[in-house]
Amino acid sequence: MIPKETISSIFEAARIDEVVGDFVSLKRRGTNMIGLCPFHNEKTPSFNVSPVKGIYKCFGCGKAGNAVNFIMEHEQLSYPEALRWLAKKYNIRIEEEEQTAEQIQANNARESLYVVCSFAQKNFSQNLMESDEGRSVGLGYFRERGFRDDIIQKFQLGYSFDQWRGFSDAALKAGHKLEYLVKAGLTISKENTSPTEAGTEPQADRYFDRFSARVIFPVHNVSGRVIAFGGRTLKTDKKVAKYINSPETDIYHKSQVLYGLYFAKKKIAELDNCFLVEGYTDVISLHQAGIENVVASSGTALTVDQIRLIRRYTNNITILYDGDSAGIKASFRGIDLVLEEGMNVRVLLFPDGEDPDSFSKKVSPEELQTFIKDNAKDFIAFKAHLLYNEASHDPIKKAGLIKEIVESISLIPEPIYRSVYIKECSRILDVDEQALLSELNKLRRKKQYDKPKQEEEPEASGMPDELLQLAPGEKMESPAESADAEIQEKEIIRILLQYGHEPLKFVQEGEAGEEEEVEVTVGEYLIHELHGDNIEFENAGYKGMFHEFIRKEGEIPDSNFFIQHPDPAISKLAVDILSTDYSLANWDKHNIPVHLENMSLKQTVQSAVYALKNRKIEKMILDNQKRLRLSNNYEEQVILITEQQYLIQAKKSFSALLGRVILK
Ligand code: ATP
Ligand code: MN
Repeated sequence: MIPKETISSIFEAARIDEVVGDFVSLKRRGTNMIGLCPFHNEKTPSFNVSPVKGIYKCFGCGKAGNAVNFIMEHEQLSYPEALRWLAKKYNIRIEEEEQTAEQIQANNARESLYVVCSFAQKNFSQNLMESDEGRSVGLGYFRERGFRDDIIQKFQLGYSFDQWRGFSDAALKAGHKLEYLVKAGLTISKENTSPTEAGTEPQADRYFDRFSARVIFPVHNVSGRVIAFGGRTLKTDKKVAKYINSPETDIYHKSQVLYGLYFAKKKIAELDNCFLVEGYTDVISLHQAGIENVVASSGTALTVDQIRLIRRYTNNITILYDGDSAGIKASFRGIDLVLEEGMNVRVLLFPDGEDPDSFSKKVSPEELQTFIKDNAKDFIAFKAHLLYNEASHDPIKKAGLIKEIVESISLIPEPIYRSVYIKECSRILDVDEQALLSELNKLRRKKQYDKPKQEEEPEASGMPDELLQLAPGEKMESPAESADAEIQEKEIIRILLQYGHEPLKFVQEGEAGEEEEVEVTVGEYLIHELHGDNIEFENAGYKGMFHEFIRKEGEIPDSNFFIQHPDPAISKLAVDILSTDYSLANWDKHNIPVHLENMSLKQTVQSAVYALKNRKIEKMILDNQKRLRLSNNYEEQVILITEQQYLIQAKKSFSALLGRVILK
């Protein structure tokens, strides 16, 4: 368990804009900040962060929460894991971290994979810088490649000894379990990777290092944790694979990772462009030359997930190709994916025989910058040129290429861009614009047709008209919505959260029959009215929140208490309510100044209570009717009928009260 005080200090330290800002590029919008939602695919930003409230909310997909929720959701961590993550970011010590490596591992398997990867990275770096073999072989190699020491350290490069299980044994000796070394892909076990029983020694000859005798490139996730490795052999033996990489693990999904993104993300957002290169050495060399907005997809074809990862920071990708890249045409399919995401793609071809790594070493950083600036071409035009040069003398080939190019253009979401490209390609390919357009329309129609039908909006629930009219939210919400029990309960909780401390004045009869003004807080009033009448909430989350209010009677907890509540169901609801600001939005719609809600607070509070009670009674009447219909016991029927009359009476008085409140 993490001590309560530590949790509080983590919440205090974790500024929502900083935490979110590590993953999403945010722009200021009044007191709030706005960016592209990292949880769903969008092109216009609807992800809002409120530094004042300490919460985020996406108006596109509805995801909302506090800083801890964000890390839970984004990094797929549990609540305690997310707290530890933030504690680490803000250098807050958690006593638990005094525990041994084994104890931490026992806590959580994923965390254990991060732990062994972090250990491995440090171990490999230490080998590189501090051992004789590492310095002469590994560091010697990097320096020969021209990597500066500060760059070697920044990318945490390392060296794995030329031994069968040098690394694995070092890790076991430091207390790490073979099971996790294997699961992290660092060690290969011949034991069918079954978990070793605690205490049993791993058998000799049954396991060995995946990365022996290689220089090591650690792969970081977006938040900078090491999740995988690439290793380059230093042997010239052609039978040895030049590069090997970690396999897929629980913390490393290749298709969702871009090498270098952690080091590049700030610059990508700042420069509003991302360079995409082939591999580790290209990324590192460009960094060394001062170009830091660069990532690599490391040996795999570009995936949609990777593209969306980039799109969190920019809409512009520039793909850098080797001069002799046979992969250019093979990459076209990947680029179509990028276009489909509505991003702008430029491509850059290096001179023959050069890749970004080698070229950056031949020219000065300034020359490199200029070269990139002058030679980056729009992708569609590039593709058209490339194919045209191949096919200009062959009419059949040319027909095929026209189709191929129009296919790319058809993927671009914005019509204006599509028409610009059609013009451009008609020029490059020397084809009539109209012919291209009709081809384009054919493809777009087909695409439309192939697209699965969107699910229809669910019907609004049918509720009695009178309830719709009497519901408290009717001034603020559509009738269909306000009919929902949940909405009524939410309204009560919203009022508690927003106005719980506000005073309400009531006139009541004093002892001598004189009129007397009493003052209670909104919170006290609501607790008295609802709890006093044994009214239970139906929604478990709101019920939980209301009970917290009751539990703290006398002292109404402030909204932070709920936003930071350890029960995620409660904190989520609190965030949801406080971030919606629907009172504001909907009042605005009716041109009613917002402060009116405050002024008519009593009315708002009372109508919320009456409506909830009214609905309860409605429900009780229906239940009662059902029981009456099913009953064949005369005495029971008499009781039920009496109850029914009482309920109907009560309903009438509530309706009257509600009507009065609304009309007043
Ligand atoms: P050389 O010194 O022979 O040029 P290199 O280390 O620069 O070797 P290249 O063959 O030029 O490697 O490949 C360029 C980039 O592609 C490398 O930086 C590497 O990161 C990446 N790469 C090549 N093969 C793989 C692979 N199998 N897995 C991951 N990345 C690879
Ligand atoms: Mn190379």
